Amino acid sequence: AELDTFRERIAKLALPEQAKKRIDEEMHKFSLLETGSPEYTVTRNYLDWLTVLPWGVHTQDKIDLEHARKILDRDHDGLDDVKERIIEFLAVGAMRGEMAGSILLLIGPPGVGKTSIGKSIAEALGRKFYRFSVGGMRDEAEIKGHRRTYIGAMPGKFVHALKEVESANPVIMLDEIDKIGASYQGDPASALLEVLDPEQNADFLDHYLDVRFDLSKTLFICTANDFSIPSALLDRMEVIRLSGYITEEKVAIAKHHLWPRVLTRAGLKKNQLAISEGALRHVIEGYAREAGVRNLEKQLGRVARKAVVKILGGAATPIKIGVKEVEAYLDKPVFSREKPMSGVGVVTGLAWTSMGGATLPIEASRVHTLNRGFKLTGKLGEVMKESAEIAYSYIASHLKPYGADAKFYDTSFVHLHVPEGATPKDGPSAGVTMATALLSLAKNAKIGRPLAMTGELTLTGQVLPVGGIREKVIAARRVGINELILPDANRRDFDKLPEHIRAGFTVHFAKRYQDVAAVVF
Ligand code: ATP
Ligand code: MG
Repeated sequence: AELDTFRERIAKLALPEQAKKRIDEEMHKFSLLETGSPEYTVTRNYLDWLTVLPWGVHTQDKIDLEHARKILDRDHDGLDDVKERIIEFLAVGAMRGEMAGSILLLIGPPGVGKTSIGKSIAEALGRKFYRFSVGGMRDEAEIKGHRRTYIGAMPGKFVHALKEVESANPVIMLDEIDKIGASYQGDPASALLEVLDPEQNADFLDHYLDVRFDLSKTLFICTANDFSIPSALLDRMEVIRLSGYITEEKVAIAKHHLWPRVLTRAGLKKNQLAISEGALRHVIEGYAREAGVRNLEKQLGRVARKAVVKILGGAATPIKIGVKEVEAYLDKPVFSREKPMSGVGVVTGLAWTSMGGATLPIEASRVHTLNRGFKLTGKLGEVMKESAEIAYSYIASHLKPYGADAKFYDTSFVHLHVPEGATPKDGPSAGVTMATALLSLAKNAKIGRPLAMTGELTLTGQVLPVGGIREKVIAARRVGINELILPDANRRDFDKLPEHIRAGFTVHFAKRYQDVAAVVF
């Protein structure tokens, strides 16, 4: 009877020669085996896997750019540049007549819509979608399966995916590709390369399956929070960055997407619970200050649940949530309108982390005047420590030209601290900020206005370009900073930003540290 099931399945497939041969052999063997013998079960499982895969089964691609644009717009507010990149990507596919042979990488902080964009791409193409996380994978067998000689051997994730989607050309999304591990169990990253690489994956070999399966028609979309991705993989990927939202964008996302979904989930109708735009803004700035919108959705969900309790308790509908009601529903705001720190020796920098952009205050203080010396705290990485040393050397040797007492650091033991100790920080982009903190200290001059800066500093006072300009500008906006100092070489990155993100900023571009000092003091 089982043989019949297998035969029925095979009849619907377009088996490649090699697979057909293997299946025939196994069927023959299976027919001779005694029911109940261990070998019987093993062979039956193997045949089950071989015959359940979508050999030669493909869904027809719908490559219609108008249709794709509609779906992307329907599911996502904003993200114009991202959508445009995806349309270009699909257009190339349309031109070549197939979508195969490329790997997309969506990179950005949590909750900015990476997974959701991936789903929309699959829907636009009319393809099946399958998603799994490779974060924390340490064993190559999770990708390529176990050899059948192992007891309890299983195929790897990709074969599972194919079985699930019943199509040989799905969209497969691999989440957290930046968090893939390596261990004594082999190197999953290099196994992954074999799967993703369009030059190799037509002959993908799962150890359990032991017959090659053509994965070259699959569209792979990877997601990651940062660029810590093996370079062999990164080289083959088409990178699209999502950088986080400003308040106005979040308001639109909340209105059009999150709130309707939250209502549905709570079993509420639009005319039972309403929230004002002001209230949304208050939730965003007071309770959900993040790059993405996941926490925002959670907070809105809390509001809806509390409203449900009230309605069931007999409250009159519609319930209207305004700014005042938000605090009654969600307690005190987690973030009060945070003012950038200020004072002598305190300067606001801008950082870029895998969670998105952030402001990064830096403090310098003179501990005592007995001898010269310098200490650093704040859980800094090696590169950041070095840029602190550079900032110190540069400022200590250039005090006079900047109008400070040339001997100030001869009799100062200084302590430079980067607060928010919980987050590890690294990178050279705080160089100018640390130098400015040290100069502010030596000049006994504080910066009395909302100003933030970023830039790498060299020993001779050059200001070099840094990454993550967009994320940093968004972070500055989030805390109400409206004046920025950026490296001159980043001018283009700033000019490329959409108008609504750039608007309202006074920006100074610096080539040398002199330019920075001239703006600040
Ligand atoms: P992670 O890195 O944590 O996996 P992610 O980038 O994959 O995050 P998603 O799960 O895609 O984030 O998005 C979180 C939620 O926010 C989803 O419900 C998604 O629909 C919604 N969302 C994010 N961005 C937008 C947007 N631009 N328009 C509409 N909804 C959005
Ligand atoms: Mg995701």
